[in-house]
Amino acid sequence: MNTTTTTQTALPNLYDFSFTELQTFLADLGQPKYRAKQVWEWLYKKFAASFAEMHNLPKALRTKLEANATLGDTLAPYYEQYSGDGHTHKVLFRLADNQLIETVLMRYDKRNTICISSQAGCAMGCVFCATGQMGFMRNLTVAEIVGQFTFFARALAAEDAHVTNVVMMGMGEPLHNYSKTLTAIDRMTDPTGIDLGNRKVTISTVGLIPAIKRYADEQRQTPLAVSLHAATDEERDKLIPVNRKWPVDDLIEACRYYIDKTGRRLTFEWALIRGENDTLQQAEKLGKLLRGMLCHVNLIPLNPTNGYDGRPSDPESVQRFRDRLADYGVSSTVRVRRGIDIQAGCGQLRDRVLHSGL
Ligand code: SAH
Ligand code: SF4
Repeated sequence: MNTTTTTQTALPNLYDFSFTELQTFLADLGQPKYRAKQVWEWLYKKFAASFAEMHNLPKALRTKLEANATLGDTLAPYYEQYSGDGHTHKVLFRLADNQLIETVLMRYDKRNTICISSQAGCAMGCVFCATGQMGFMRNLTVAEIVGQFTFFARALAAEDAHVTNVVMMGMGEPLHNYSKTLTAIDRMTDPTGIDLGNRKVTISTVGLIPAIKRYADEQRQTPLAVSLHAATDEERDKLIPVNRKWPVDDLIEACRYYIDKTGRRLTFEWALIRGENDTLQQAEKLGKLLRGMLCHVNLIPLNPTNGYDGRPSDPESVQRFRDRLADYGVSSTVRVRRGIDIQAGCGQLRDRVLHSGL
């Protein structure tokens, strides 16, 4: 790493600051109180990428900020791809320490949903997941999580559009980076800034039981999705190594705790893998497990990855699985993974780019 980069990364990123921290930072630079609101609006209403564009600030202050802080330059687009139908735009970002993370914009039905990463890599090791296959590098900072949002918000603003939904379903396990992820979500839903509705943000977790309970106790309004993928420990142990630590029955108990505490419907994610977890036995076990629970199941045919030889279920098995769930009164939707042609499954673009030497 050269000296310039080292100096730059040592500077605080304004997107890491809460409003109070920004006030203190500006006061330390000798600024009057009202400056904090001005800068905050540049950050979260206009998604500023440079100090130069903050034209209602005195030139001297812009120069001072330039010397003492950074904005988005910790998040540089490294590789970009659009799906054939043009609805999906995926960006591989290079971070200041050269880690690569992925963010995807999906544009369908007047919705502009972005899929955000919470970590570089992931420690959970789910066998079917490209991110799990690469292992854990590090947690993302608040600025790196929010920066993924502001990047697309800026691009959409240029065409008078905006981000309507966020799913924390990119690389990493959001609840394994609890405080940074939740602070970033607070930032995205802050009424004085981005002001995205709480219900427009979904957190997906592999099932970290203590974190689910904490989330429930904090009475968070942001919907939760739990990646279940199997209804028995025998099956789930094979797919999701952390199931040995947080087994199915305990996980379901934590989910019930969450529903009781928040009164919210919970979503379960289920990647259907041919001949593996798409059997009638699994459907029946799942039906029994979830019967009567305030929940919904999202069925997603597996997106094949390099490091796992499982295949997606065929449409007949998907339907059979759905029908059996319905017998138990459990509602489900089949979701199609968007942008398959651009490796829009989490971690897949990084995998492809690294292995093709792009
Ligand atoms: N770590 C979190 C969020 C990121 S993964 C979690 O596991 O929930 C987002 C979703 O994509 C999860 O439901 C995950 O199980 C699913 N997923 C990962 N790899 C997949 C693949 N190859 N095919 C289909 N779904 C996949
Ligand atoms: Fe991590 Fe989620 Fe992938 Fe599992 S599915 S390895 S928890 S990112």
